[in-house]
Amino acid sequence: MITDLASIETLDALATIAHDCTECSLAEGRTNVVFGAGSAAAEVLIVGEGPGQKEDELGLPFVGRSGELLDKLLGEIDLRREDVYIANVVKCRPPQNRDPRPDEIDACKGYLKRQIELIDPKVVLTLGNFSMKLLLNTTTGITRMRGRAYEWWGRFLIPTFHPAAALRGGERVTNDIRDDLVMVRSVIDGNLRYIDER
Ligand code: URA
Repeated sequence: MITDLASIETLDALATIAHDCTECSLAEGRTNVVFGAGSAAAEVLIVGEGPGQKEDELGLPFVGRSGELLDKLLGEIDLRREDVYIANVVKCRPPQNRDPRPDEIDACKGYLKRQIELIDPKVVLTLGNFSMKLLLNTTTGITRMRGRAYEWWGRFLIPTFHPAAALRGGERVTNDIRDDLVMVRSVIDGNLRYIDER
């Protein structure tokens, strides 16, 4: 990446740079950069995969059906959007909602890294495989990795399924997400010890 993002001191300044980013070919097809949204002082940072069509149109994360489910499940642990910060692994929509490619993730990961540093959340909640594999640097899939809280760079990382998987997979997947969100609540309330057994 051309700009040294480590020297950028605010989320707004980082967003301004991201909005002009042309580091990968996703820039060509985007309507809007979906940098992220929420509280800059959030204790919970949620990381999805990448914008879909509606997110690309509006420039905001999780505004489609997955977002509706996410809001509902967050509400069950007494969290609203304005309490958390929501970002994605890639900030621009992959065409036809295909998976982000490794070169695109690589080009974009500096933004997420700096978002995490600037927000400094107590817990990072990853949704789906892409954010979990990137942040935990693992090739193991989400089904095996979820259900635990990991100690990660001095904070907790809790991986769970992507809400889109719950929309496809029904109540069992939704209930697994619920269980993982209970751990998120415990971290916020100061009631969770590190239980990483890897
Ligand atoms: N899915 C994601 O991973 N991110 C969004 O912002 C929307 C849907």
